[in-house]
Amino acid sequence: MTAVACASSDGWGSGTGGCSSYAYTHEVEVIDVSDAVERVDNGKARMTSDAHVFILSAPSGTGKTTIIRALLEALGDHVFFSVSATTRPPRPSERDGVDYFFWPPKRFEGAIEHGDFLEYASVYGQYYGTPKEPVMRALENGRQVLLDIDWQGARQVRERLPSVVTIFLLPPSQAELERRLRGRQTEAQDQVSRRLKDAAREIHHWRDFNHVVVNDEIKRTVQEIRAILDEPDAAPAGPRDLEQRIRELLASSPE
Ligand code: 5GP
Repeated sequence: MTAVACASSDGWGSGTGGCSSYAYTHEVEVIDVSDAVERVDNGKARMTSDAHVFILSAPSGTGKTTIIRALLEALGDHVFFSVSATTRPPRPSERDGVDYFFWPPKRFEGAIEHGDFLEYASVYGQYYGTPKEPVMRALENGRQVLLDIDWQGARQVRERLPSVVTIFLLPPSQAELERRLRGRQTEAQDQVSRRLKDAAREIHHWRDFNHVVVNDEIKRTVQEIRAILDEPDAAPAGPRDLEQRIRELLASSPE
């Protein structure tokens, strides 16, 4: 079966008819992904029963990288963190193969054509994708897999793999998001503005996720996410005043 998927930071859709009004489009050969699922299904017999794919998504500046570092430190080899490929240039502190695989667009497009990605999308005007093979290997070895990907990628992975648990991380407030994003000084001003605008678009997708966690205090947030990793089949949850928080975040976001 072949389907067409349209992905962009503005929207996502799929069908057999092709893509229409999206800023950026690409075709996904679903047959490649079915093959991946088959491998996971086969591998499942050899996987420990608690092997899951965990997806952590968050608007840029929410503190996700710090949280992931703390989680990996605490959990060690039990968890495999998938290093994504991207066409975005590295930040001064970032290392190729550690933070991302920094690939030129041609190489990234070649990997798309070869069906090397479990998922990929255009985020903030750059390609980002999850190399398929390392994830499959980790699952077959019974390890938990952690993906740091956006909502578009989360949707693709959910449709393609069993046992996916999705977590959406929210900033405590719009002012705090802006403070963190400007304070880290890793993006040019126009990129900061774009990320702030796109944050609202991402937050609109919070209902797609099993769990919603507010990152108002790092230690507590790490504990909360660890609890989800420890009990992946627990009922989906979020803070009690979640809807109110979301309304406030969206109301104070830039247009
Ligand atoms: P940054 O440029 O700040 O490192 O990441 C920008 C956004 O891209 C983040 O929201 C992050 O979750 C998302 N991202 C990183 N890697 C991937 C990936 O492999 N696939 C998708 N779909 N999104 C990714």
